[in-house]
Amino acid sequence: MTTHEHPLSSVLETVGETPLVAIDVGPPSVDVYAKLETFNPGASVKDRIGRYMLEAMLDRGEIDPGGTVIEPTAGNTGIGLAIAAQQLDLNAIFVVPERFSQEKQQLMRALGARVENTPTEAEMSGAVDRAHELADEIENSVVPQQFANPLNTEAHYATTGPEIYGALDGAVGAVVVGCGTAGTLMGIANYAREQNGDTHICAVEPEGSMYGSLLDGAPEHEEYKIEGIGTSDATTNELFDPTLVDTIEQVSDRDAHTELKRLAREEGHLVGSSAGAVSHAARTVANRIDRGELSVPHQTIVTVFPDTSERYLSKGIYGSFEEWDG
Ligand code: PMP
Repeated sequence: MTTHEHPLSSVLETVGETPLVAIDVGPPSVDVYAKLETFNPGASVKDRIGRYMLEAMLDRGEIDPGGTVIEPTAGNTGIGLAIAAQQLDLNAIFVVPERFSQEKQQLMRALGARVENTPTEAEMSGAVDRAHELADEIENSVVPQQFANPLNTEAHYATTGPEIYGALDGAVGAVVVGCGTAGTLMGIANYAREQNGDTHICAVEPEGSMYGSLLDGAPEHEEYKIEGIGTSDATTNELFDPTLVDTIEQVSDRDAHTELKRLAREEGHLVGSSAGAVSHAARTVANRIDRGELSVPHQTIVTVFPDTSERYLSKGIYGSFEEWDG
């Protein structure tokens, strides 16, 4: 978004400074804004951590130029890391569970990365194990490990949070953000709580995901189609800090799908299912504020639309709910 103001020397400089746009989900008494992360060069929120983590790791000497970055990833992080690796003279290998979208895997390869698949049944933890195996074999390599690396959260504390508060002159009442690694939410939440300790923090996950078990007992893990958020085992997502979270909204696949289609048809947003989920959850929180069930320092909610629907066209994202193969 800064690109029109002056010439830039590298695509890396186009990461961040994404637009914050009003969305039509709230009752008139509550303003809801979405940060459009599709404006990043790799078209997702993960470009932010790709740049931030690799620059920091090079600075700290955890990897030297010419080395190899190895990451287990559902895809968007691979794209973000691939762009940064290429620009910072590093190689990249990504370990991706089979079920994740082919579009993402093609883009990682196009950016010069190697992609290795692990079986869907082995879940993300299978991909994590394989990434560490590779790192043991390859010299001058590093596994950033987005699920456990505080730099993931820090990237959003340093960029996404301040951008939101700058755009709204600090008038943020609630933050409603989806949790995959939880880096996006935790970074924004840390920043938000420093600005105003009463800011309402709402984590969003699919129905069947297990973050909810950390706050309100133990729901059962079930499969879901929404891609990019949720966890089958919350203990593996080390960045999620339940003490920073007021509520967890679970969204059904059907509600996320209905909402992502509505966002395209009525508001011009071509976004993936995690954006559909957070938009739906933002409506729920806005209604709660409107009814006086939730008191917030400002009648304003901020959410983040993490990526684009173009990444999921092969999965029938704009087909009927039954046709959509999440
Ligand atoms: N949506 C999509 C499409 C994603 O790829 C991710 C990252 N897994 C997220 C949301 C969640 O972001 P975070 O990992 O920062 O929680």
